[in-house]
Amino acid sequence: MAASDVGAPHKGAKIFVTGHRGMVGSALLRRLQAGGYTQVITRTHAELDLVDQRSVHAFLAEEQPDYIFIAAAKVGGIQANNTYRADFIYQNLMIAANLVHGAHLAGVQRLMFLASSCIYPRDAAQPITEDALLTGALEATNEPYAIAKIAGVKLAECYNRQHGRQYVSVMPTNLYGPNDNYDLATSHVLPALIRKAHEAKQRGDKQLVVWGSGTPRREFLYVDDLADACVHLFEHSYDGPLVNIGCGQDVTIRQLAEVVKEVVGCPAEIVFDTSKPDGTPRKQLDVTRLASLGWRARTPLRDGIARAYAAAPFHTDNHRAST
Ligand code: GDP
Repeated sequence: MAASDVGAPHKGAKIFVTGHRGMVGSALLRRLQAGGYTQVITRTHAELDLVDQRSVHAFLAEEQPDYIFIAAAKVGGIQANNTYRADFIYQNLMIAANLVHGAHLAGVQRLMFLASSCIYPRDAAQPITEDALLTGALEATNEPYAIAKIAGVKLAECYNRQHGRQYVSVMPTNLYGPNDNYDLATSHVLPALIRKAHEAKQRGDKQLVVWGSGTPRREFLYVDDLADACVHLFEHSYDGPLVNIGCGQDVTIRQLAEVVKEVVGCPAEIVFDTSKPDGTPRKQLDVTRLASLGWRARTPLRDGIARAYAAAPFHTDNHRAST
């Protein structure tokens, strides 16, 4: 595994960040701009449809970026993944295939593909090491998304083996932060709980409804920490095997709900709606490889939740600012 400063990128490198309006892409953009990179390029969905092969290939051939962060994806929480199964597998397969193959055709030597911890087998030993990939069956609720992301990881590997490319894949754990999706029908648990606690407080509700049994365990990483880890690997010209990106600690959904309640200042009592699925029982990443590359997470969960809440579109201050 290589992590050296040899060939480290210069600040004028042309870096294409895909998905820059999403939570991950926007965090990468913030981090690259703060790091002094002067040629970060982006395209909105309307300007460039990443599912359309012809447009993507033409764009990459024209722009000739030095590096691509593949942060674009169709993402969603447990319910969205389970409901829109065709959309999740098709769009994510196309995004990965178009960008990886298009990058190769355009002569782009380096890129980073962002996968997800849900690509690991449902019953993987915890904490999950990178070599657990493809050792067992996947969690059913998000299998279509996971299959597409696994294909992306394998695409990158195959272009490295056959064509000598340096395409890296990283596996972020559950993320949260500014620009998260707060739509209760499609969001992940943390933004959903922030919004539910906020609304319960405003309405004076007696109960805060949490899906499932509250016993599943999840690990959460503040998205600016993820962006920092990605840029760390990029700046060290890392071109080794896949790398988990997490904080190394998990909590139960019940514990999470309690922290959210405290941060938001919501006095309602937590109740569980067990008609909703629990999903995979535990999903904690082993971050030994990342630590050996010189990076660790900095934002404690409570602080990250406070920052995410402060940036949420429905937060009273933001609402006032925008009206
Ligand atoms: P997952 O990590 O892929 O399972 O996706 P989620 O972040 O959507 O869900 C994680 C866990 O949180 C599951 O056990 C959900 O049942 C639970 N959960 C509790 N309340 C909520 C909620 O309001 N929304 C979501 N999406 N999940 C919730």
